Amino acid sequence: AKRIVVKIGTSSLILSNGQINLKNMDDLAFTLSSLRHEGYDIILVTSGAIGVGLNVLGLDKRPSEIAQQQALASIGQVELMSLYNHIFARYQQKVSQLLLTNDVIEYPESHQNASMSLQAILSLGIIPIINENDAVSVDEMDHKTKFGDNDRLGAIVTNLADADLLIMLSDIDGLYDKNPNIFDDAKLIDTVSEITDELMKVAGGAGSRFGTGGMTSKLEAAKLIFDNDKQMVLTNGARIREIRDIIAGKKKGTYFG
Ligand code: ADP
Repeated sequence: AKRIVVKIGTSSLILSNGQINLKNMDDLAFTLSSLRHEGYDIILVTSGAIGVGLNVLGLDKRPSEIAQQQALASIGQVELMSLYNHIFARYQQKVSQLLLTNDVIEYPESHQNASMSLQAILSLGIIPIINENDAVSVDEMDHKTKFGDNDRLGAIVTNLADADLLIMLSDIDGLYDKNPNIFDDAKLIDTVSEITDELMKVAGGAGSRFGTGGMTSKLEAAKLIFDNDKQMVLTNGARIREIRDIIAGKKKGTYFG
């Protein structure tokens, strides 16, 4: 069976007014559950804990202090998983939670452990939902436990699980040749076979309001995907129901591979 990692970004989960995008979440649960029932192994890497935490507390902007962000991630993670648990249950699909830190790439034992755990969860027919353990991971030089962002985590999980494909869902149809928020004539790039410096420049623009990485971190993730001979597709979270066309290779986004 094919094994697919789907990474969903904050911008697909949180609307611009700060509310949770339940339509996208429901479409995601419906689609991933049916793929699972058809025999695919599915792993979901989700962002959005801080965004959901803001929503829970009725705050409208990300605090700058790290401890406050960690508290929000901790609060939001519970609500996010509770939502996923309920929504997936509508489609008779069980889920589990895995919170990872950079240890899985830093230490071979941690890598091995996480990989065995993932394998066991998948063998039970369950969709593991993975996020970074933001409430405790740190960015210190001497003991860095942060991945940086979930785009990178998506690529790391794809390698960890030896999946075939990473589907990266954002609030945009794919990578454009310039920032589409600024340039009306920006064109969608169909296929990328190499991450060049020039490409990194077109991705330089800032991301959406709640999103963090922007396109640069998606291209960094694509580098990891290329290094390990995997494939990645970047597409719009609102198009999740068209995922079969994506898997079938019909163009609906930017293909990396
Ligand atoms: P997510 O939360 O889904 O991970 P981000 O908000 O971090 O996504 O990044 C996606 C955003 O990056 C897009 O909504 C767009 O505004 C911005 N962006 C900047 N440059 C580009 C580009 N060349 N092509 C596509 N999007 C771009």
